Amino acid sequence: MSDCIFCKIIQGVLPKYKVYEDEDVVAFLDIHPVSVGHTLVVPKKHYLDLVNAPPEVAANLMAITQKIAPSIMEAVGATAFNLALNNGAQAGQVVNHVHLHIIPRFADDGLRLWPAKEVKPTELEDTVKKIRTLVV
Ligand code: 5GP
Ligand code: ZN
Repeated sequence: MSDCIFCKIIQGVLPKYKVYEDEDVVAFLDIHPVSVGHTLVVPKKHYLDLVNAPPEVAANLMAITQKIAPSIMEAVGATAFNLALNNGAQAGQVVNHVHLHIIPRFADDGLRLWPAKEVKPTELEDTVKKIRTLVV
């Protein structure tokens, strides 16, 4: 896609700090990392988001993550990582070319995941009913 920043990075029009590349996927450092080694795993073909990507493309992003995450952790001395995918603007997706974030984690790194709510069982029941009628 001509106005997509990740397509331009993939095509070599814009620079990247390349971590990994094969025929279908490229992984490169996030230019504004959450932690050292923060890596984006990106299919070479342009798809808007996870839901719009073919299942085999989505599965391959996960397979490549399994392959490279241990090396990323070792290289930066991390002991864990978060895997994130922001699907849609309200979820924080800024670049509309599907990608996974590998975010290395360290003991006492101060990062916090999002807050969880207390809800009543009836709320969970209502929610799951609505979802189940639509999930095929
Ligand atoms: P999103 O919010 O769409 O899930 O994540 C987009 C990510 O791409 C952000 O973490 C942002 O820092 C990163 N990013 C944006 N522009 C560039 C760029 O030009 N080069 C690289 N390497 N990362 C970028
Ligand atoms: Zn793109």
